[in-house]
Amino acid sequence: MNTNQILRVVGTDYKAMTKELCTRAELCSMIPAKESKIAIKPNLVVAGPAELGATTHQGVVAGIIEYLNENGFKNLVVIESAWYGEDTENALMASGFDLLLKEYNIPFIDVKKVPSHKQDCCGMELSVTDAINDVDFLINVPVLKGHCQVRMTCALKNIKGLVPDDEKRRFHALGINKPVGHLAATIKQDFIIVDNICGDLDFEEGGNPVVRNSILAGVDPVLIDAYACDKLHLKLDSVEYVRLAESLGAGSSDLSSAEIIDLRSEHDDSLPESSKVLDVAYAAEALDACSACYGNLVPALLQLSKEGLLQKLDTKIAIGQGHEGQTGTLGIGNCTSLFDTCIKGCPPSKEEIYEGLKKYIEKA
Ligand code: SF4
Repeated sequence: MNTNQILRVVGTDYKAMTKELCTRAELCSMIPAKESKIAIKPNLVVAGPAELGATTHQGVVAGIIEYLNENGFKNLVVIESAWYGEDTENALMASGFDLLLKEYNIPFIDVKKVPSHKQDCCGMELSVTDAINDVDFLINVPVLKGHCQVRMTCALKNIKGLVPDDEKRRFHALGINKPVGHLAATIKQDFIIVDNICGDLDFEEGGNPVVRNSILAGVDPVLIDAYACDKLHLKLDSVEYVRLAESLGAGSSDLSSAEIIDLRSEHDDSLPESSKVLDVAYAAEALDACSACYGNLVPALLQLSKEGLLQKLDTKIAIGQGHEGQTGTLGIGNCTSLFDTCIKGCPPSKEEIYEGLKKYIEKA
């Protein structure tokens, strides 16, 4: 397929739809040899079933595996790691991927359990898992969804699952957009299948799935992400890492030259605008916060807002590694351990944050 093309298919038989996309894209012809080592990188960021809007649907990966096997490609591996603070093993089980991999006899590499190496990523030194050292062809299988810090996550940011935990944490200290842009411009994605089935419009950890039942395929991660921004009503410039990756040569965001090809019938996959995160984000003073920490804070704030309590908060809530060593009134996570009130944990859970903030507000 051409770099300016995005294939799109709609329906509910995700395995069959994915095989149809692979066939139409002539995926076989892109892979160097039958014995090539092919890595599949899904999104298993948290421990939850795909129906909650965070993780890749099993059917999509099953479709890729069956297509490859039927065409004589047997050297497959699935590589992934859950976000900082979650065991990948839990994410595998909650999503049903443990059974899927067993059924197809596909090995799995947990990035958290293998060594990593330092790599020059377009002028920025980053740690990358050794698991991809001998991979010949990388198939990225992200979920198109919102993100409470960088607004949107799809093809480019899904590659962050290929760095070890301490590096994931450092990414946030480095301002998240810059390292994601540099990493994604360095790790080449050879083929991309986007799970656009029911991703959450606000949170990468899901919880509020919005069904659209479509799956996309492409070869340019920047174009795919530009399309994702468009669908989520986001200006491209508001998702900084996409522009950065483009400037570093990862692809083109030019949607005006893109060809969107519907495999079955014309499909309107436009989505409602969502501003849940923006509605409560004012309450926090986030400075280099890890995704898991900030991702747990926002639902707690939404709940407090619903109960009319957030409006009574008399101070900003500090969160993130940038507050380490600082003092203040109210903070979330061990990074704010010197604050007068600190809701401890690394990261603290949604429930701990909600209970801690509720207690603080009621006491005040
Ligand atoms: S407390 Fe939160 S922001 Fe700080 S390191 Fe832990 S998870 Fe990251």
